[in-house]
Amino acid sequence: MPVQFLTIKGEGDHVGSAIVTLDQKSFEESSHVNESIVPTGFTDTTSENIDGGVFFVKSKLLPSKLSDISLEKQITITATPSFQRGMSHWESLIKDYLEKTNNHVLVRADPIYEENAALCNGIILQARSVEDDELSFKAYVYNEQPNFEINKQTSEIRDLKKEAEEAEKARLEEEQRAEEARLAEEARIAAEEAALRAQQVQSIESQVWIPRTGSKYHSNPNCSNMKNPSQVSLSQAQSWGYEPCKKCY
Ligand SMILES: [Zn+2]
Repeated sequence: MPVQFLTIKGEGDHVGSAIVTLDQKSFEESSHVNESIVPTGFTDTTSENIDGGVFFVKSKLLPSKLSDISLEKQITITATPSFQRGMSHWESLIKDYLEKTNNHVLVRADPIYEENAALCNGIILQARSVEDDELSFKAYVYNEQPNFEINKQTSEIRDLKKEAEEAEKARLEEEQRAEEARLAEEARIAAEEAALRAQQVQSIESQVWIPRTGSKYHSNPNCSNMKNPSQVSLSQAQSWGYEPCKKCY
């Protein structure tokens, strides 16, 4: 095997490209990373909208067992759970092939970084079986997470789903407040109208009839054979000294 393991130094702190020739013995899942390694941009970030709650994980660029921790450090990146799922899909193809054939697979990974970023956007992963043409692929594995926005420079995350839910909740609360205010205003107008009607009824009821001659006021204009009685307000009749009719009032 001409190529066993090769890394090309990345710019600044960035992890560079790596190439390895794998066989059954040297295969190891990319998620298997020495605990003491802390890749750039790695933070303990949790989120309730992630399975297991842990947002950032450590991942190797290649599914390769490495003898030396300094080599492992050179190919370890800060990744998302979604990246890890993408990697494990392609790794399982390599693993199945190695187990089935006992052959070798040449694997190459090129991480893609934006300038000044601590986290890579993703990696280009290529594999080719050495002894035959059975296995061959080139894939882009995204270092993203559905429903999240990741700041690749600061490793800050935005939970877009949670933000949308909170915005929707605030909108519904505002709608409810507006509806309550509308109902309160309707009730106030209804109460005002009822008060006005009550006043009108009162003013109608407080009208009385007084005769041309006599000292009583009546509620019934036909009481006591009155001729052409006058309608006046109760308070007016009282102020003129009239008293209530015992028959109709
Ligand atoms: Zn009367």
